[in-house]
Amino acid sequence: MKPPPFEHYEPRTLDEALELLRRYGGEAKILAGGQSLMPLLNFRLSRPAALVDLNRIPSLAGIREADGRLRIGAMTRQRTIEFSPLVRDRLPLLREATSLVGHLPIRTRGTIGGSLAHADPAAEYPAITAALDGELVVRGPGGERLLRPAEFFVSYLTTALAPDDVLVEVRLPVAPPRSGWAFEEFSRRHGDFAIVAIAALVVADGPRCQVARLAAAGAGATPIRLQGAEEILQREGLSDRNLAAAAERAAELVQPDGDLHASAAHRRQLTRVLTQRALRRARELSQGAQA
Ligand SMILES: Cc1cc2nc3c(=O)[nH]c(=O)nc-3n(C[C@H](O)[C@H](O)[C@H](O)COP(=O)(O)OP(=O)(O)OC[C@H]3O[C@@H](n4cnc5c(N)ncnc54)[C@H](O)[C@@H]3O)c2cc1C
Repeated sequence: MKPPPFEHYEPRTLDEALELLRRYGGEAKILAGGQSLMPLLNFRLSRPAALVDLNRIPSLAGIREADGRLRIGAMTRQRTIEFSPLVRDRLPLLREATSLVGHLPIRTRGTIGGSLAHADPAAEYPAITAALDGELVVRGPGGERLLRPAEFFVSYLTTALAPDDVLVEVRLPVAPPRSGWAFEEFSRRHGDFAIVAIAALVVADGPRCQVARLAAAGAGATPIRLQGAEEILQREGLSDRNLAAAAERAAELVQPDGDLHASAAHRRQLTRVLTQRALRRARELSQGAQA
């Protein structure tokens, strides 16, 4: 199918984009990589009067490190993240998760900001942002504000972004020294959205655990930070028994719904299995880095 007619704008600055969004009073949509929006338009599930295309605003793309964080512009292509030496060296968990987003042609167009703003609960970037408690930088008519994942992700495909807001940047803390990480997901075919995915990062100190970060995708209406499971590891350490206890707790913390892909019980079981698998791999990498 073809999309319904719309005006197409290519602003050259963020201020110009914000002015266009304000002028359309909620009737315009932002166009980033188009990998989620264009199918919605083609199926006529979305009928905006105008598209405000961010692809000609260079200041919105790029990756740099500042204050212990990677600052990733919203229009940074997923492929750029996948092949960034800075991401490889400073936040390899993000690189691993990126390689699981769809297929290479999708990652070549798709942006990190588009994925976060689209807020599919099974998507990889929202889970990473939740696990690392990243910051989302939003510009709107009232200026700039910083949101945490728990504030930003509201429900299925719903965020705290107003129609005239632009997600400008996401800031993710770099991995601490000697950390280990893993992004584990279960999907029917390579490149499909995950049925459930788990992001894990730990810093081992012998059998003890200095830092644990865990989040689930595909197991509720938003990505879910698994704080209760992190606490078990930080309190009790990284023995096999504690990894199993953390995985058990993770399965209690998620709030999955059943759908045609998997029942709620199946998603809970996947959470248990993938958490344990991710933690084992993360522990091994971190303990290897201490040697
Ligand atoms: C076959 C297929 C498989 C896929 N598999 C996966 C997968 O496994 N995992 C996964 O995570 N994704 C997957 N995707 C989705 C893909 O990653 C998209 O790139 C992503 O969801 C949206 O990014 P985009 O840049 O294309 O955004 P767009 O499609 O352009 O926009 C998506 C939404 O976000 C809004 N938006 C975009 N940028 C901003 C911004 N800066 N500020 C405010 N609002 C904004 C748009 O208005 C729109 O509502 C898949 C897509 C396809 C077609």
